[in-house]
Amino acid sequence: MPEPAIIVHGGAGSWPASGDPESAAPTSADERRREAVQGCRRAAEAGHAVLRAGGTALDAVEAAVRVLEDDERFNAGYGAVLTRDGTVEHDALIVDGALRAGAVGALGGFANPITVARRVLERGVHVLMVGEGARRFALEEGLTEVPSAALISPRARARFEAAHGALARSGDTVGACAIDAAGHIAAATSTGGLLGKRPGRVGDSPIPGAGGFADDRLGAVSATGHGESILRVGLSRTVAERLRSGDAPAMACRFALAALAERTGATAGVILVDAAGRIAHATNALAMPWAAITAGEANEGIDP
Ligand code: ASP
Repeated sequence: MPEPAIIVHGGAGSWPASGDPESAAPTSADERRREAVQGCRRAAEAGHAVLRAGGTALDAVEAAVRVLEDDERFNAGYGAVLTRDGTVEHDALIVDGALRAGAVGALGGFANPITVARRVLERGVHVLMVGEGARRFALEEGLTEVPSAALISPRARARFEAAHGALARSGDTVGACAIDAAGHIAAATSTGGLLGKRPGRVGDSPIPGAGGFADDRLGAVSATGHGESILRVGLSRTVAERLRSGDAPAMACRFALAALAERTGATAGVILVDAAGRIAHATNALAMPWAAITAGEANEGIDP
């Protein structure tokens, strides 16, 4: 049986994340890169603690992504980017290797959308819930709704004002992949999507096969990058299919990113845990903070 392992990412982009006006980011670029890696490490530790305690891969990726959603430095949960109307609309996906999936799209009012997605998965009836229906579902599940303003950080507000209505990818979406002691795998992805997006826009992140994918026979993948491009090629599914054809994990990631770039010109990043417990990460963007904990070893980084 493979050792439990987890890898998390904090989004593929320019790092420091684009769109930050100086006033919203008084710290230096180096400091912000360090903080992003540190945020990923904290999330990986939280997820690994769940695995060590005998938790499932699903529990671990949910716990890790919740830490990143609560961290205002990332575009997820509190501090996510704003729509062109100045509102917050989250997308989130959680999947496991038994092909169970739960996702929410264009959902406002919940600090941890990954947990709403987890409830969708647990109910096992639907896979993707959006907007008002997703909100009603979350309330029926007993999850706490917060006013939209409580999800908007000062930095997100400053970014929104500096963008003057332009559409931008901030590059700090989050995700996690894990394998547990029973050899099961899971992946999770969470984001506020694009800064200045139209309300109702749903990106790749909550779509199985695009923003994330898991199959116990292959591996678990979480993706980040230009959502419309990732959706069109099915990026996470492409990575998994490369594993099926025998690629080593890092090669599968690199192949899928090269195929994405060739067909769409987009930049993106992926993380992966395969069915044997091997991890990999890759990006063709300028940077992607990540952190991983495998059998007794912790690693992290930000450069491609
Ligand atoms: N994939 C996300 C989206 O398009 C954004 C990102 O990963 O930066 O919604």
